[in-house]
Amino acid sequence: MSLVTTYCSHCFTRNRLPAEKTDSNAKCGRCHQLLFSHSPVAGRQTNFDALIQSDIPVVVDFWASWCGPCLQFAPVFQEIALELEPRIRFVKLDTEQEAAIASRYAIRSIPTLMIFRGGQILAQRSGSLPKSLFKEWLLSTAAAPK
Ligand SMILES: [Zn+2]
Repeated sequence: MSLVTTYCSHCFTRNRLPAEKTDSNAKCGRCHQLLFSHSPVAGRQTNFDALIQSDIPVVVDFWASWCGPCLQFAPVFQEIALELEPRIRFVKLDTEQEAAIASRYAIRSIPTLMIFRGGQILAQRSGSLPKSLFKEWLLSTAAAPK
């Protein structure tokens, strides 16, 4: 039985659960809400490291409120989260509110998308992209061997 560690969408606590239980019914051991909300969560200084330390790939959308392409991309990100959680997890990082994290990852243009697993960057790209390409990129990256 392989165990998987990932965050709770509600209280951000890291949960360990058997890989075959990582479905939409999974509940958080701490707050007892559904582990997967099928919706992006907001990354902050206080939770970001816990979020990306996930065995399930986590895609982070580095964005800002003044960035037109970011705002256009936001609904795509939301829709794909609804489709692909819990296979992939979704985090939004406001680069103005959380400048220290943006600077840690040397974010120069936004939107920038980064996929993490176990705290490590698996892949990254800059610029908005259409829904079909975004989904394809996520699935091909997530399928790569560990
Ligand atoms: Zn919880």
